[in-house]
Amino acid sequence: MVSDEICNAFNSGYRHIILEAPAGFGKSPVAIALALSLGSSYICTSTKDLQTQYSKDFPYVNVAKGKNNFPCLVKQDFIRNGTYRCGICVSDNPDECFHTTVQYGPCITDESFRGSGCKYRTFAKDYEITDKGTKKEHTNIFSERKQFYQNEYHQWLPIKNLKEQRKEWMPCEYFDQLNVALTSSHSIFNYSIFLALLPYKKSFHERDLLVLDEGHLLETEIVKFRGLAISKRRWRKYIDPFEITDYGYDNIERWVEFLIDLEAKMLGLIGNSSLAESLMVERNARFNYCKGKVTSNDKEEEMEIRKKIVSASELFDSDEEIARKYDTESTPNNITNFSRELSVDLIRDTERLTRTINSILANPKNWIVSEIKKEGYKVTRVEIKPLNIAPYCKPVFEKAPKTLIMSATILNHRTFCRSVGLNPDEVKYIQMQSDFPLENRSIYPLDVAYLNYGNLQSSEVISRIAKTVDNLMSVHKNDKGIIHTSSYEQLKFIKENISQENARRLLVTDPEIQRDEVLFQHKATPKPTVLISPSLHTGLDLKDNLSRFQIITKVPYPNKGDRWINAKRKEDEDWYYWQTALKLIQAYGRSIRSKEDWAKTYVLDSAFSYFVKRNLSILPKWFTNAIKGRLK
Ligand code: SF4
Repeated sequence: MVSDEICNAFNSGYRHIILEAPAGFGKSPVAIALALSLGSSYICTSTKDLQTQYSKDFPYVNVAKGKNNFPCLVKQDFIRNGTYRCGICVSDNPDECFHTTVQYGPCITDESFRGSGCKYRTFAKDYEITDKGTKKEHTNIFSERKQFYQNEYHQWLPIKNLKEQRKEWMPCEYFDQLNVALTSSHSIFNYSIFLALLPYKKSFHERDLLVLDEGHLLETEIVKFRGLAISKRRWRKYIDPFEITDYGYDNIERWVEFLIDLEAKMLGLIGNSSLAESLMVERNARFNYCKGKVTSNDKEEEMEIRKKIVSASELFDSDEEIARKYDTESTPNNITNFSRELSVDLIRDTERLTRTINSILANPKNWIVSEIKKEGYKVTRVEIKPLNIAPYCKPVFEKAPKTLIMSATILNHRTFCRSVGLNPDEVKYIQMQSDFPLENRSIYPLDVAYLNYGNLQSSEVISRIAKTVDNLMSVHKNDKGIIHTSSYEQLKFIKENISQENARRLLVTDPEIQRDEVLFQHKATPKPTVLISPSLHTGLDLKDNLSRFQIITKVPYPNKGDRWINAKRKEDEDWYYWQTALKLIQAYGRSIRSKEDWAKTYVLDSAFSYFVKRNLSILPKWFTNAIKGRLK
């Protein structure tokens, strides 16, 4: 039994265990059984759908979702009263406005609604737990507290004069579910909320077990969370005109100066210029930074700066300090010339800016300018990312003395451990094979052409791809399916170069269209629709008739043109092949979800054989055994 193996590993002193098991293995019941036996747990997963699935299957696991998923009750009251007006949309029609959620609640921007100022807001101390630690565990607001809030609510001035009041007081849904999740024994977060809560150590206590589901995404999630993009489109909402000077890809120091200048302007807009001054003093003391100093190429000076590099824990204390500063010192009453809604974005973006500046100053060599987008000669967007995320993983692993990392695709546990700062020799790696019948999940390498960058510029080659896709769709004319392309250009070409009948079956994802909308359409219609996308390799459950065939056009090597990826590749070639294998196996897993499920997988790229042979040591046997025919 895999549960016994995990328990034995923990008992013999391992703190971290990796469980790699294919889709349909039942990893979540294993994690939950372990969580119940240990007493308390945090579970992290990548999507809201997976969070919901956990709480459906295990009702005693409480979900915490982000602010955008809940309406602000105060705003709802004003909407009902006919006196709502959004400061960003400048609209009084709530159907046209995207700012009616908790993310833009007055408690974020208005001093009088902060803390206990909003009578809908509840706190962890208001909650009691019954049947703690059992499957019947329930977390509720104390009845006396409910009564207290009910009384307070009816006396509350902002609501008192409205035409229509709620008969019954109710808690703000966002804070309610967050308090329940933080108070109860077992709760589930998605990675972005979990990472955002880390600096709040007082309310985000240590638990007995941390489960990182879809653990192979930890690096991606942390890079997404820590990285920073500055775009003209977003930032000119605050500073107009807003220009981004082009300092090039190799001058991180000049970019830091740019960010610090921007931060000072933003703090000025918040009405807190004094914070800019105190940050400068702190940076001088902590990172030996004063404006212009890091620009030197002088080796000695650089060494001096390197000596000052803080340890990871200091870095995170700094994160906590930043969160506190922005919570208590950036009083929104000081903000002038901005609507309440825009002030929320202003404070949030400034806080992120401060955090990124401090992280870069702590270790400038670890940061890379990954993208500079231009229109003509003018920079419209710049993106900055950390290369090594290991220091940022430390506080994640500190949330519990035991960690269970689960995924269908860890594949190369040494590379994975290195990337997240764990010593592979101190991590127990348990790999389970798939028991799905081979004949239900065959892989057909079709050897259409070598799809490297050069060949993909050839119209003859891409026409061959489109023709093969067209034929396969006709073979599966009554089936739903999915096509994984390597780019939006390829997607467009295929769509425009297949028969009209097949083109009409395609459901295209687009960066501008919500992925959920497209998936909903695919699931809702009985027609043989086919999803086509370069971005559906992961987190998608196309069980049974939702997909009977899948086409992988190209071995999904990460794009070397992306400077972050290229820098990672240069540092560790294994990482590059590991990332490719992850994506390939994730794509393969989308359509075969249980022992009874079946789907055919076609790979068009002739480079597939080479890739498989080169990476036999990391590709699981249950994958290579499903490949039909001999590899060339
Ligand atoms: S706490 Fe109050 S003001 Fe804040 S989002 Fe909830 S209902 Fe709105």
